[in-house]
Amino acid sequence: MRCPVTEQITDTSPTPWGRKRKAVQKASDAQSDNRHFPCSNCGADLRYHPGEQKMICTHCGAKQDVPHVDDAAAQVEHSYLDFLKNDSQMAEIEVQSLNCNTCGASVEFNPDEHSRLCPFCDSAIVADVSTQRKIVPQGLLPFSVMEKQAHDHMKTWLVARWFAPNGFESQAAKEHFSGIYVPIWTYDSATTTHYVGERGTTTGTGKNRRTRWRSVSGTVQRGFDDVLVSGTKSVSAEFKDALGPWPLRDLETYQTEFLAGLRAENHTIGLEDGFYNAQSFMRVVITGDIRRDIGGQRQRIHSSQTRFDNQTFKHLLLPVWITHYSLGKNRYRLNVNGRTGKVYGQRPFSKLKLLGASFVMTLAAMGIGLLLSLASGG
Ligand SMILES: [Zn+2]
Ligand SMILES: [Zn+2]
Repeated sequence: MRCPVTEQITDTSPTPWGRKRKAVQKASDAQSDNRHFPCSNCGADLRYHPGEQKMICTHCGAKQDVPHVDDAAAQVEHSYLDFLKNDSQMAEIEVQSLNCNTCGASVEFNPDEHSRLCPFCDSAIVADVSTQRKIVPQGLLPFSVMEKQAHDHMKTWLVARWFAPNGFESQAAKEHFSGIYVPIWTYDSATTTHYVGERGTTTGTGKNRRTRWRSVSGTVQRGFDDVLVSGTKSVSAEFKDALGPWPLRDLETYQTEFLAGLRAENHTIGLEDGFYNAQSFMRVVITGDIRRDIGGQRQRIHSSQTRFDNQTFKHLLLPVWITHYSLGKNRYRLNVNGRTGKVYGQRPFSKLKLLGASFVMTLAAMGIGLLLSLASGG
């Protein structure tokens, strides 16, 4: 039985939630994002090559290094409150975007990408290309896994799924991957939480079981570092966590060269909403801390007040390979971490294989039952 918990989490953070940001710079102030890097040899477009970590010409194969920029800017933690107080503006750029009406994703338009299917939900995007303003991220994790390797990781993942139907791997292997940089916020905060609750000590068993409650109060402290929050609604928290961990030590300062031939999704969750989501995550962890601090067999939390200090943030892009594959009438999405190769996807179950497996298990159970009855002389 769960103990009755009355929780009152009051947030005493001075953060002005829901405050609308002032209008950003005039459109003319925003720079256009240059994504075309002509080959010095033949003039064709260079594309970022994850395997080589260089730009390579699509026509003549000439290679060009991504200019070296100090990566310190990628790691800078910006003060959250100073940012809001000064009403600071993040640098913005104008990008050509495709907006998906089905899932709400806003993805940069790439003339090289012929498909007008939304890489996130696979529905056709009929809207025209529009110009949108987006915040320039301070850093990104460049792709290091190539599309071919993403296919290999996908295959290994599928083979390990024993319940996938036959023919499924060869079907899935034909699909094309979209390389997308997904926007993300990371937040840090020191927290101090005062709580009031009760510690329960249980004695006896069955009908004689009794819990004695004693009032307790206390303070727990915890520092959070790089709590990742999705910058878009099209990427669920599960997607972000399931593909992690992300090696944030390898962050590079944002440079458009890393995006040549790839795409980035525009952020649709702002700085303040992102921090609100980060706080929700922090509160779950803090509640666990309070329970441990109360101790005993059972705990009740009546109220808790958390103070958030030293709040900082970063705005980043993370690399994901995304594909969809068909099986029968269904489409499934599969994502590969563009840095570590970790796979997270939806997967089909073969009814025939599941039926076979349950049949084998029933037989095994019957065999064990028979052996046991023989052993006991039945
Ligand atoms: Zn060339
Ligand atoms: Zn979509």
